[in-house]
Amino acid sequence: LMLGCQPATPEATEQRAEVASVRLSGTAYHSMAWQVSLAALPTDTSREQLQQRLQARLDAANTVLSTYQSDTELMRFNRASVGEWHAVSPMLLHALSRALQVSAQMTSFAQAADAYDVTVSPLVNLWGFGSTGKTTRVPTDADTARAKAQIGWQNVQLESKNERAQRLAPVTIDLSSVGEGAAVDALSSELQSLGVSDFLVSVAGTLKSRGNRADGSPWRVAIERPDGQGGIQQLVVLSDGSLSTSGSYRNYFERNGVRYSHTIDPRTGKPITHNGVSVTVISPVNNDATLADAWATALSVLSPELAIQTANKLGLAAYVVAKTADGFDASHSAAFTPYLPVQKSAQE
Ligand code: ADP
Ligand code: MG
Ligand code: MG
Repeated sequence: LMLGCQPATPEATEQRAEVASVRLSGTAYHSMAWQVSLAALPTDTSREQLQQRLQARLDAANTVLSTYQSDTELMRFNRASVGEWHAVSPMLLHALSRALQVSAQMTSFAQAADAYDVTVSPLVNLWGFGSTGKTTRVPTDADTARAKAQIGWQNVQLESKNERAQRLAPVTIDLSSVGEGAAVDALSSELQSLGVSDFLVSVAGTLKSRGNRADGSPWRVAIERPDGQGGIQQLVVLSDGSLSTSGSYRNYFERNGVRYSHTIDPRTGKPITHNGVSVTVISPVNNDATLADAWATALSVLSPELAIQTANKLGLAAYVVAKTADGFDASHSAAFTPYLPVQKSAQE
C-alpha cells in the first residue's frame, strides 16, 4: 500500500500575486489552506480585524458542513428522522442544493447520469477515503454491493423557499465534493458585506474573483500541471468568475500496480480507473464557486472524452487533463475558450 503524496500547493493558484496590495491566509476545515487577495483593505477595517472575520466565517461553515465531527448541522441532519421535513440553515441549503442540481442536470445525458452523487459516502468510506479513515485492503465485491445499495441522491429532497430538507431513505449526505466551493462562497459573501468589490479568494483548488487587481487588470489564475511539481499547465483570465479544479492525482492509493482514486463512480461502486487526472470547471452561473466545485468533481468521475462531451452538451466551461504514455494531454470544451489568455500561450 502506497499513499499518494499530499499537496504542497493548491491545484489552481493565483498568478502575479505582487499586484494585490493585501494578502491574507489561514486554514479552513480539514486543514485546507485559504487565501484572500484584495486591491485594498475596506475602510475602517484593519488587516487583523479582516483576518479574524474571515476565519470566523470559515469556522462557522465548519460547524455546518463537516462530517469529521458528529455535532455539525449536516451530521445531525443525517441522523434526523427519515420521511419528515427538517429546517436547514442557508449555508447547508446552499451547498446541498448545488450538489443536487448537478446530479439532476447530469440525468439529461445517459452516460453521465448518476455519476455524481452526494450520498456516495458509504462507498467513499469503504474504499478508505472518508471520515472513517484509511483502509489497507481492496473491498470485496459483496462489500461493494452492500455499500452501493445504501446510496441514492434521489432520496434527498430540498425546498429552498421553505428552508427545509428531508431524506426519503436513510442515506448519508457528505458534502466533501463542494467543501472548497462552499468555503470560497462564504469568504466572498463576507467580503462583499464589508463593501469589498475587488478580490480573489481561494480555498485549496477552488477560486473566485470579483472586479480587478489594484492596477485595474483582471485577476489571473493558473491550473496546475498535475505532475506534483507545482508547475503551470494553463493560465486562465478570470474576472468575476469561479473556478474549481478536482484532481484524482492527489488522493489515491496503489495496490498491485492499480491506482485507486478518492473519486468513486457510484454506478460501479469503485474508484475511477480512466486516465483523467484533473478537471477544471468555471461556474456556469452567478459566479457560484460551490457549483463549480460540484461540477469539477462530477466531470472527474467521467472519462476525459465523456467529460468534454457532457460539458459541451450542457454548455459548461471545462478543462480536462489526461495522463498519456509520455506525459499529459489537455482538452477543453467550447465554453472554456473565452477564459484562455488571448496573447501567446504561457505554456512552454
Ligand atoms: P478534490 O478537489 O480533492 O479532488 P473533490 O472536490 O473532487 O476533491 O471532492 C472529492 C470528494 O468527493 C471525495 O473525497 C469524496 O468524499 C467525494 N466523492 C467521491 N466520489 C464522488 C461522487 N461520485 N459524487 C459525489 N461525491 C464524491
Ligand atoms: Mg475539491
Ligand atoms: Mg469538488
